[in-house]
Amino acid sequence: AQVHHAPHVVVLTSPGVGHVAPVAEFATRLAALHGLAATIVTYTNLSSPTNSSALSSLPPVISTAALPEVPLDDLPADAHIVTLILTVVHRALPHLRALLVSFLSSSSSPVVFLADMLCPAALAVAEDLGLPRYVFYPSSLMSLCTLLYTPELARTTTCDCRDLPEPVVLPGCLPLHGADLVEPVQDRANPVYDLLVDLGLDYLRCHGFIVHTFDAMEHDTLQAFRDLSDRGVYPPAYAVGPFVRPFSDTSAEHGCIRWLDEQPDGSVLYVCFGSGGTLSTVQTAELAAGLEASGQRFLWVVRFPSDMDNSAGYLGHQTTDDPVSCLPEGFVERTKGVGLVVPQWAPQVEILEHRAVGGFLSHCGWNSCLEAVCAGVPVLAWPLFAEQRMNAVKLASDHVGVALRVSGGDGAVVTREEVAVAVRELMVGEKGAVARRRARELRVEAREASVPGGPAHQALAAVVDLWRCAAAASPAPAPA
Ligand code: UDP
Repeated sequence: AQVHHAPHVVVLTSPGVGHVAPVAEFATRLAALHGLAATIVTYTNLSSPTNSSALSSLPPVISTAALPEVPLDDLPADAHIVTLILTVVHRALPHLRALLVSFLSSSSSPVVFLADMLCPAALAVAEDLGLPRYVFYPSSLMSLCTLLYTPELARTTTCDCRDLPEPVVLPGCLPLHGADLVEPVQDRANPVYDLLVDLGLDYLRCHGFIVHTFDAMEHDTLQAFRDLSDRGVYPPAYAVGPFVRPFSDTSAEHGCIRWLDEQPDGSVLYVCFGSGGTLSTVQTAELAAGLEASGQRFLWVVRFPSDMDNSAGYLGHQTTDDPVSCLPEGFVERTKGVGLVVPQWAPQVEILEHRAVGGFLSHCGWNSCLEAVCAGVPVLAWPLFAEQRMNAVKLASDHVGVALRVSGGDGAVVTREEVAVAVRELMVGEKGAVARRRARELRVEAREASVPGGPAHQALAAVVDLWRCAAAASPAPAPA
């Protein structure tokens, strides 16, 4: 009888801890639950120390490989962050091919290839090499539906999408105003628009989408997507979430956790705009004044303001200065005891799960959304870019119902009065109490989705079975 080897899973991840961390956790699950070996492939361009720390403490059967740096100096200085990332993905394709070929020739294990949400261009390489190929999608299925729709949006409309007269209604999805579609399609004249159209087409080269979501969060969307894939419109989607990964083993020793230990239950608002979200100088000052005026306890992860770009933090603004120095004069002293500011980075998962935390002012990156839900903490949604507005719409929807929204948006500054009102409503108001109840219900549903043998495990097992079958069908390895 022929001996067939378990597949070796190669996962390509785009830069940014919001992508690298869920890939790391996903690969860890493949190893722990299914005994598979995996290699996480990263890009050297645009990587940051936090990316690398997301890859520390992986089990021994998971390796990492970084594709060599590619030149980007011909791009304009104001190129969109997604343009930078997608350009890196394209230019590194020859390096990826060489790496995959080396895996195929040096090992007898059949290779399965996974590309994360911003790397589907790489599926063409896997297709060419005849490999099973999947997309690992670390955001909502609804946002994937909108990206799959982008080519049609481009073909059937001529205006900027914020000017669309009617909401976009996709099967099983909430109606979305054009302005709530992903931020890189907002400006048709920006070169990133066409890159997103290509992205939407490239996804169709995969054999399936592995999506970091779960039924209670996206029931209708999952059902509608199942119908579409049964009809051959799209490859199938597997809902393998939610899983959250504490950032490091030493997080519990962080000073902010000790500070939380001294605060009353449910009394602290945690404020964080993800790994790269950035406010303007004026907005930072208004937020500070609003937190102070709210009278609520807070724990704020403070970043350097940027007046150019609300995703400036992604480009690894490296400096030895302390962003706390950018807060209004006397703010830290006046709020001492009530508030704590942490420069740059804090152990978010541990913070959200701390009994003292009662609310989360969030930019609504999808990981942050799921971490809030898994901790049963209601959200004050302050979306900035990428698919965050859509995530905020979902969290605040009747069906999910765990979020209130700050007013403002569309680039307008949220005033200190608006901040104070919204923060009080979330922490001690009636609407906040309703969202908190709903968040606690959803926490239970999230746990049920991810218990051993539950739906997330079953979905993962189904896709791993397909890989094993593909591996068994592939040519037997040559004798060593
Ligand atoms: N994160 C953290 N501490 C911080 C900022 C972010 O641990 O100070 C983690 C957070 O828990 C989440 C990830 O970084 O897992 C950010 O991902 P998300 O999708 O929320 O937003 P993105 O950074 O991609 O915009």
